[in-house]
Amino acid sequence: MSADGAFTYNGGKVSPGETQNIRYGISETYLGDPVRIPVTIINGDRTGPTVFLSAAAHGDELNGIEVVREVAFDWDLSTLAGTLVCLPVLNVPGFLTQQRYLPIYDRDLNRSFPGAPDSTSAKRMAHEIFENFISPCDFGLDFHTSTRGRTNMLHVRADMAHEDCHRLAKAFGTNVIIDSEGSSGTLRGEATSSGTPTITVEMGEAHRFQRSLIDDALAGVRSVFAEYGLEADTPVRWPGWRTVITDDKEKTWIRSDAGGIVDMHHERGALVHEGERICTITNPFKDDNVPVRAPFTGLVVGVLENPVVYPGNPLCHLVELGEETRRVVERSQSRT
Ligand SMILES: [Zn+2]
Repeated sequence: MSADGAFTYNGGKVSPGETQNIRYGISETYLGDPVRIPVTIINGDRTGPTVFLSAAAHGDELNGIEVVREVAFDWDLSTLAGTLVCLPVLNVPGFLTQQRYLPIYDRDLNRSFPGAPDSTSAKRMAHEIFENFISPCDFGLDFHTSTRGRTNMLHVRADMAHEDCHRLAKAFGTNVIIDSEGSSGTLRGEATSSGTPTITVEMGEAHRFQRSLIDDALAGVRSVFAEYGLEADTPVRWPGWRTVITDDKEKTWIRSDAGGIVDMHHERGALVHEGERICTITNPFKDDNVPVRAPFTGLVVGVLENPVVYPGNPLCHLVELGEETRRVVERSQSRT
């Protein structure tokens, strides 16, 4: 931010009280045409933090796109205290082909941050994004979904040892927070280590707009805005119960030992008890059923949607719950 409260980026300036929709060039195609990402910068009348909201770093992960667009265009931001940098589609080439990775040599944009101006095409794109729209922010939220063919319950991933990420993660108000540093090259990890604390929001499956998850994530954004004073008169939300999954708890993708067609017995968000059947691997004749049982009592945070597996393929992401949390979850699930 400049001294007059304006948000500045390469070649541009957004003053307090101003909103700009930009198509910002981050690369060029084989035809020499620009590859441009959509950016909306909303600089509020009142001063406050500068926050980025980003989505579709993986090009087929769509739920977050709608979250970012609705904040930018459907919310009344006339009393906003601060600046929003809205980046609904980071990976434009992947979005155009509806695939996770950049189609250029299948690079993962979300392993290419903070990028470099003289490196690979992926790192050059990452650099343009990071330098202009991430680094200037005080903190950020990066929206993802599960990988294609699986689905996630809404949860946050954050480095809970980092004080600001801890505050941000709790402010978002999900039941589940997975505590991890964030791999090298991810937007979350690199932004956090360079001074822009960032959390990831995981929600649902790829290739979909899932209305209830989008609404839930919007409530999370509103709660973050409340925590940091961007919006007055909104309370920070308490999700009813919360568990922070740390490394000392078990969290594992349960993998299939057999190939086959999967008959899944639980949905995302379900509590399964140790020894309970999670799913059954069947053959085409339904005469050789292999039950897969929960190795410990836990919550189904992620689960297979596309019901076919080779041996070794993941079936569900199960995270262990502490005794007390387990009882609270049992009570809340028996009510619904
Ligand atoms: Zn992703």
